[in-house]
Amino acid sequence: MTKIQEYINELKEKSDKRFDDFDIIEIDNINSILDKAYIDKPTWLGGDKEFVCLFIDLDKSSKKSFKKHPKTMAKIYDYFTQNIVDVLNHPTIGADYIDIKGDGAFGVFGGDQASFKAFYCAITFKTLFEEKIKNKFGTEEESLGCKIGIHKDKVLVRRIGKRGEGNYNEVWAGKLVNNASKLASQKIEPSNLGVFDQNLIFVSDKVYKDFEDNEEFGLYRCCDVSSEESVSIINQKVPVFTRVEEPSEETLGDCFYKTDVRWCNKCADKYIDLIR
Ligand SMILES: [Zn+2]
Repeated sequence: MTKIQEYINELKEKSDKRFDDFDIIEIDNINSILDKAYIDKPTWLGGDKEFVCLFIDLDKSSKKSFKKHPKTMAKIYDYFTQNIVDVLNHPTIGADYIDIKGDGAFGVFGGDQASFKAFYCAITFKTLFEEKIKNKFGTEEESLGCKIGIHKDKVLVRRIGKRGEGNYNEVWAGKLVNNASKLASQKIEPSNLGVFDQNLIFVSDKVYKDFEDNEEFGLYRCCDVSSEESVSIINQKVPVFTRVEEPSEETLGDCFYKTDVRWCNKCADKYIDLIR
């Protein structure tokens, strides 16, 4: 037998053993994935516990000059991605796990306030993006856009690494990260939502339900509406989220929600203070 045939046979034997030993361990803390004990075993981490993923991506589709100038693109990419990671590292509302993916990054949040923390991170980045980042690179005709999606689901994740090198990558199977990414990519025609149509935050049904069950975390808009609108709606609750029916992606379920909110100058800290 040639050496390469021996090698192939060995790989086959090894992978058959992995296949037989395959196992899923229940986790209730996302930090468990960092446990080195799982690396050499074909063990995935999952279970019934649900986590929340916030996915933020750079929308290049509207900026044609990206293709022409790789250096400019890299510069924007660097600036953009680092800011996402920094927001996801916020001491109060930050994520439990952060990773870079493509042109963007995502964070995974655990605990019973996961949906709210993810949403507040999303609004923080959106506010930063629209008020500080966008104009640094965009011209009026060709402005930068960002894509934001939040999904709640069970996890199925495994750490894969090169033995002894300390270099590991997590592989996220299941819907948690994938659906957050798909939500971020939803294209909604400009509507009557307001002037910030370009950058919307999309949340799945499950994330929305957490707000419905805990209104104080931001189901309705705060004071920022009443000053400009007619007197009649001053005491009326204005919903933050608008329902979108029939997503183009089947995996997103029957509906999802969109919002164009930014942090209100007066009320932002009041919401952050709700996070334990
Ligand atoms: Zn307010």
